[in-house]
Amino acid sequence: MGCIQMGSLYFQIASLFYLSLITIIYCKKQKRKTLENRIYFGLIGITFITLLLDMASVTLAIVNPTHIFANPLCKLYLVGILGWVFLFTYYIFIISSKKNKSDDNGNLNKSSRNYFKKIFFILLAIYIISSIIIMSIPLNIYSDHNLMYTYGPSAIFSYAVTGVCVVFWLVMMLFNYKEIKDKKYLPAFAFIVLATISVIIQATFPEILLVTSAATFITVLTYFTIENPDLKLINELNLAKEQAEKANNAKSEFLSSMSHEIRTPLNAIVGFSQALSEEEISNEAKEEVNDIIMASENLLEIVNGILDISKIEASKLEIVNTEYEPMKILEELVALTRSRLGEKPIEFRTSFDPLLPKTLYGDYMRIKQIALNLLTNAVKYTKTGYIEFRVSSIKKENVCRLIISVEDSGIGIQQDKIDKLFTKFERFDIEKNITIEGTGLGLAITKKLVELMNGKIVVQSVYGKGSKFTVAIDQQIVLTPTASSPEVIPQEDPIDLSVLAGKKVLIVDDNKINLKVASRLLKDYNVKTVEADSGFECINRILQKEEYDLILLDDMMPKMSGVETLKKLKEIDTFHTPTIALTANAISGMKEKYLAEGFNDYLSKPIDRKELNRVIRKFLNTK
Ligand code: ADP
Repeated sequence: MGCIQMGSLYFQIASLFYLSLITIIYCKKQKRKTLENRIYFGLIGITFITLLLDMASVTLAIVNPTHIFANPLCKLYLVGILGWVFLFTYYIFIISSKKNKSDDNGNLNKSSRNYFKKIFFILLAIYIISSIIIMSIPLNIYSDHNLMYTYGPSAIFSYAVTGVCVVFWLVMMLFNYKEIKDKKYLPAFAFIVLATISVIIQATFPEILLVTSAATFITVLTYFTIENPDLKLINELNLAKEQAEKANNAKSEFLSSMSHEIRTPLNAIVGFSQALSEEEISNEAKEEVNDIIMASENLLEIVNGILDISKIEASKLEIVNTEYEPMKILEELVALTRSRLGEKPIEFRTSFDPLLPKTLYGDYMRIKQIALNLLTNAVKYTKTGYIEFRVSSIKKENVCRLIISVEDSGIGIQQDKIDKLFTKFERFDIEKNITIEGTGLGLAITKKLVELMNGKIVVQSVYGKGSKFTVAIDQQIVLTPTASSPEVIPQEDPIDLSVLAGKKVLIVDDNKINLKVASRLLKDYNVKTVEADSGFECINRILQKEEYDLILLDDMMPKMSGVETLKKLKEIDTFHTPTIALTANAISGMKEKYLAEGFNDYLSKPIDRKELNRVIRKFLNTK
């Protein structure tokens, strides 16, 4: 009987040492409960068991090879090593599977979980059968002093099963040949190489038992390749993300309230300038007043842009779908573009699909905004030549894909700038375009709006020659328009001032200047105006049986908002006066919101003369 020397177990003891180290490190680290992590735990456990079985069987076989437990212990060791091979096979399968897609928390979806469970049980079944075979067929032990190894059918069988598993790994890797460089496969490659080396070494020096050490080494190596994001880091990143989102929201809120604040004084500037321009003043003064109006309108456009982008960024901008007539929108766009072109020597061509459906369902305000942004840019960045505005359509069942393109022979955009085109506040060729006004917000908003409507926008441009922007957006086709739609754009009949004489309008706004502007604008219509600086005053006047033909009611008032005021007014039995919502928070969807609140119509501040005409015509121009 031989006496065991530590030298025979040198590799196993070393393996046990570094496996313990990696286990401590692994357990101390915070981690997510992913499938890969669980398998890794299993691998560590099996490696420990196998190492202990290895050491016990070697010791016993050397000390007493004929001992009753020596043979079963050696077989158990083979079963252990095969368990490691199967678990590793499962790991390779998981990392190769397309279904291994976890969410942000590392959880798999239910169908993937069930699928992996099934595979696990299939592998487990094969493993159990293989283990029974290993335990039942003969195993020979060679033992001579410090030298011991096993051979015979049981050993050959376990090597054969391992070989089949390795072939399976290779097949899995081949299926994923694109990701073969993925570091996750490194342990599998390392195992194949190490196993080959171990087999060669063992064939020459049978006393050097390397298999368990190879498995341990691979288990340790897997620690470095397993997808195991640091939880601490993730928590920190999540916190940073949350803070960034908070800061972004705060910025959006700030921009939104700022643009609201800017609108209020603008309301006064535009309102009084408009009133002034209609007075008997010298031509020079008229020109100057018109310049003030134009500059205010530019400022208003910028404020609107900021408001839009901040609403989009805070995900507060909604798409409001209604029925509309696309042709009418296109006509409006053409008229607007022509007026913007002014005296510029540019040929404005239009080409509209004659088969465009008569009525569509979608957010026409936003479609108009998108097309207008592109047309305005074409006008801004083209000196001479042409601008072509095309609209075609592709119909499929009840969906109409609107393809809107705006082509110009303008300054064009450099290829390397195209990627940044839709980034907010990006403007190009600043030196060249120094005289062209802009904020770099238009295209950023356009792209976001197109995306909100699930559409696409593409740009083709040759620097110095011109650009073409194409937008594709799907809209529903309406075959039988409902009675209330489409949006009627009233004809510009002259307003009969004699009819308006004696009509009474109540203006409600907490801001004194706004009250003054509205009164001033209404003065031109021959109507009598009464001012109220709060919702309470408005309600009191109605309760005192004062009669009005129209109420212009500001929404954003302290203490009692316009919406609340209207609610209270509606509780008064005798109250039937048409009420118009007034707001400086002019984003799309507002009109629908106020109509839903019970208002009869909506006006945004600064009050647009045309819009005011429309409202007066609709509610007061009746005998
Ligand atoms: P803005 O026109 O207010 O600067 P936009 O976001 O609409 O902002 O456009 C961003 C930039 O893209 C512009 O500053 C301009 O340099 C370039 N650009 C946009 N449209 C055109 C066009 N049709 N032709 C040439 N350059 C364009």
